[in-house]
Amino acid sequence: MKRLRLKKSVIHFLIIIICLGVGTWFILNYGQKFFQEKIYKNNYESDLVEHGFTTEEAKELIKLFDDDKLDVILINEPNSKIIELAKEKYFIFDNLSRYISYYDNNPTVSIKDVIALVNTKNDLEKYPTDLASDTSLNKSILVNKYYSLPEDYIPENLVTISNSYAYDDNKVTSEAYEAFINMWNKANEDGWKLIINSSYRSYASQKEVYDDYVKRYGTTKAEELAARPGFSEHQTGLAIDVFEMNNQLTSTFKDSEAYTWLKENAYLYGFIERYPEGKENITGYSAEAWHWRYVGEKIAKVIHDEDITFDEYYAYYIENQA
Ligand SMILES: [Zn+2]
Repeated sequence: MKRLRLKKSVIHFLIIIICLGVGTWFILNYGQKFFQEKIYKNNYESDLVEHGFTTEEAKELIKLFDDDKLDVILINEPNSKIIELAKEKYFIFDNLSRYISYYDNNPTVSIKDVIALVNTKNDLEKYPTDLASDTSLNKSILVNKYYSLPEDYIPENLVTISNSYAYDDNKVTSEAYEAFINMWNKANEDGWKLIINSSYRSYASQKEVYDDYVKRYGTTKAEELAARPGFSEHQTGLAIDVFEMNNQLTSTFKDSEAYTWLKENAYLYGFIERYPEGKENITGYSAEAWHWRYVGEKIAKVIHDEDITFDEYYAYYIENQA
């Protein structure tokens, strides 16, 4: 009986020791961190208020940004738009000062558009000489009025498209070709005979197209109608100009049911509409219902679901994450 009681009290003693041990460990580990953070955050709050933000704004900024970013905010002009901008889905911190200056210069543009336009470099001069398309990205390569390809760039694995799907001498990359055939078959099943009338274009042939437009319409108009050599997505071997057998006019294709079919289904095969209507200010091109770009199913789905252009996708999901 005595032995048992002794045993019990030893067990109680041990439990108390363990509890004390665990408790001390917790206080040392988390208590210190908790108090440190409290003091730390208060420091940032007072620094931000001293810098010119209201207390409310300072609290919000601390919630939105980590210390490194708060340090950057503290060395720049205080601006309450930072909070509004940071809450947007495609906000990129590195673009902050450009967002603010674009917003200041274009006060009628919506905050969502400010983000989209600056992310896609539309606040900068077009045709820069210091930006090159990253050719290692294969099917997610970006070519637009900012990122260009060198004169000697020829995509790997170009294959000639069969006359069943295209007019003579059309080429795309083998992966895009396979995806297109799958899409063609489904479209055919649904009643639409797709036909490609332009695809891969070399630098030299794009130069010919561009120079011809300049000769005919002058530089300003030519810029609207054709890409400068090196700046054409057709040089990637991933872009196709596609129509339907019974509707092959650039002026009417956008009203065709085949176009509606493409809008609803092309992403399932990895193709996206590259220059959609209403996004001209972002892509830099007038709407081209016939110009589709292969990016693969994964990227195409995001672009379709989020209703963004490839330029926006690239800025946020590729360049920003690199
Ligand atoms: Zn095209």
